[in-house]
Amino acid sequence: HAKKKGNSYLFFNDTMNREAVKRLQIENLMRYGLKEDHFEVYYQPKMNIRTGKLDGMEALVRFITPKKGVISPGVFIPIAEETGQIIEIGEVVLNKACRDVKAWIDQGLFSGRVAVNLSAKQFSLPDLTTRIDVILQKNELPSYFLELEITEGTVMDDPNEAIAVMRSLSARGIHLAMDDFGTGYSSLAYLKQFPLNTLKVDKAFIDDMQSERGRNMVDSIVTIAHNLDLHVVAEGVEQADQVVMLEQLKCQTVQGYYYSKPLSQPEFTAFLQKQLDK
Ligand code: C2E
Ligand code: CA
Ligand code: CA
Ligand code: CA
Repeated sequence: HAKKKGNSYLFFNDTMNREAVKRLQIENLMRYGLKEDHFEVYYQPKMNIRTGKLDGMEALVRFITPKKGVISPGVFIPIAEETGQIIEIGEVVLNKACRDVKAWIDQGLFSGRVAVNLSAKQFSLPDLTTRIDVILQKNELPSYFLELEITEGTVMDDPNEAIAVMRSLSARGIHLAMDDFGTGYSSLAYLKQFPLNTLKVDKAFIDDMQSERGRNMVDSIVTIAHNLDLHVVAEGVEQADQVVMLEQLKCQTVQGYYYSKPLSQPEFTAFLQKQLDK
């Protein structure tokens, strides 16, 4: 037996190694998956509380590998961010989302916007707007139907540069949503300067609505958003009482398992058909 000190050092080293090996495995799986088309797009409805009708949907990437099964975005997205593969993955998602929405519009099933997540790496590409234009044109989808979700971290890196990029997207008619609002470092001073359309209240705040202080917090966020003329979407809504509370707080749109989990393209098509029958 080795000495205790040596042992824990070895263990630490071993854990780090295993972590590094796992990352490399996922990096390789993603490279292969990009070639073999293993990235799919699922859609989660955003429901209007008042009307009970669909306001829009969020496109969420799914990495479905033949050998390792489904790998969670929570696992591969951070690695893809580091390796830069998120740029290519993000374009696959944007392309498929535009393709699917175009088909739903043409079938008369939908006329709203699809929200696509944009990573910080994508956001800082010098030719971002051109890349988006190309994908929209290729799919014959007017920019009106697109919304991009960006996080506080993405825009707070260089707020003035971010404002310029956001303006050029906004000028095209693309809507912009601040994702996971309240979880990054505060952008309150900048919030009014960003050309945003929507503010998405993070699930953490919705989970906290059991307490009065938690409810007051959501109330305050919704008030700030409305004072800035922003639309509010509550994320991660799982329970009926949360919907009731959110309606009282004048939050218009909710997204979460209470209404639906993210659905595959055929599942979402069926969902849209059912919505029409209502
Ligand atoms: P996000 O953008 O905040 O997306 C919402 C996440 O919450 C999704 O997880 C969704 O499935 C999950 N969710 C929705 N409703 C509920 C609910 O009621 N309860 C619970 N517990 N969870 C709910 P998902 O799909 O695993 O994605 C995780 C994160 O990965 C996303 O968080 C986003 O940051 C990132 N991501 C997903 N797709 C993309 C993409 O195409 N591009 C980029 N850059 N990031 C993506
Ligand atoms: Ca999002
Ligand atoms: Ca979010
Ligand atoms: Ca989130």
